[in-house]
Amino acid sequence: MTLLRIEDLHVHYGDFHALRGVSLAIDEGETLAVIGANGAGKSTLLRTIAGLNTATSGEIIYRGQPIHRLPTHRRVALGISLTPEGRRLFPSLTVEENLLVGGTRGRPGPWSLAAVYDLFPLVADRRNRIAARLSGGEQQAVAIGRSLMSNPALLLLDEVSLGLAPVVVDQVYAALPKIVATGATVLLVEQDVHRATSVADRLHCLLAGRTALEGAVGSVRHDQIVTAYFGQVTAS
Ligand code: ATP
Repeated sequence: MTLLRIEDLHVHYGDFHALRGVSLAIDEGETLAVIGANGAGKSTLLRTIAGLNTATSGEIIYRGQPIHRLPTHRRVALGISLTPEGRRLFPSLTVEENLLVGGTRGRPGPWSLAAVYDLFPLVADRRNRIAARLSGGEQQAVAIGRSLMSNPALLLLDEVSLGLAPVVVDQVYAALPKIVATGATVLLVEQDVHRATSVADRLHCLLAGRTALEGAVGSVRHDQIVTAYFGQVTAS
């Protein structure tokens, strides 16, 4: 069943046309990776689904209902949670306080402090530490945990590997199948195509605000991805 459907989405920053008619659909339980070069519009897409950017036109339909005019907190209550690029933890709060903030607007469900600590034992060990004192990888795990605390049906992960050592990225990505196993649908933005294809069911490549390629991970060829990623639009 379709969880999220986006139709002809346009987003502007002032005069700049960042998303130029993006359409996509995600089924329940699916993992969709949105890939593309710097500035392609990936974060804008996620932020617009979460309600942090406003669509100029187009529709965002979640569980059959239009949500593009709802404020962010209402979308969180419906089960949409964004783990933003750059983590954006509350630096002066402890790890546990950051996690508790994540649960304030959410829904009931499988995720709790205990479940997050079980998923990321390293986070459990640092629960009383001030967030600003954590390493980048630790902060990333807390940021994902904070999203999970709202019990999302749709988890939006923006560049969770950015700036982290490969070994740390491995640990963060190792948590994904466990998150999906709880029933979450994941929309993941990733610049690293190899990482994206290792976890996603389908790929959606953006190029300069437009869809350049989409398809099941096994059905798109590497050369198609390279072309779509770096510069020749083959679909829109
Ligand atoms: P990156 O990997 O660099 O984050 P991205 O694919 O996520 O890239 P976006 O961050 O969505 O891309 O940005 C899309 C375009 O919109 C870029 O050209 C960017 O410069 C522009 N943009 C993003 N945020 C703003 C803003 N607040 N004001 C003006 N332009 C913006």
